[in-house]
Amino acid sequence: MSDCIFCKIVRGEIPSRKIFEDDEILAFHDLNPKAPTHFLVIPKRHIPNLMELAPADSALAGHLVYEAQRIAGELGCAERGARFVFNCKSDGGQTVDHLHLHVLGGRPLDWPPG
Ligand code: AMP
Ligand code: ZN
Repeated sequence: MSDCIFCKIVRGEIPSRKIFEDDEILAFHDLNPKAPTHFLVIPKRHIPNLMELAPADSALAGHLVYEAQRIAGELGCAERGARFVFNCKSDGGQTVDHLHLHVLGGRPLDWPPG
């Protein structure tokens, strides 16, 4: 996807504050953080949203979630926890159409969301 901003981050065409990457996923700090800790974990391959996962993407999705909680722990959220969120399509409030898992921590978060 040539014009997708997260694909551009994967390719290094847009700068990001990277936390972790491997062959399949990338974690980086959100540009507009909503909590003291707010980072995103994305697959490097362009998948538009959570509801477009294919059966063959199950291992990738599990890997992404596993690494998200591992990184959250390393960034100080192990004791008090964090919020792990996939916004999906318009009703879910998704604004960037490249699958991403938000991880928010470092303060208590309200429920339900708006
Ligand atoms: P969503 O509304 O769930 O699609 O979330 C998209 C998130 O991407 C928002 O929290 C934005 O602040 C974040 N974002 C957009 N552009 C960038 C960027 N260049 N680097 C880091 N985060 C970004
Ligand atoms: Zn993309």
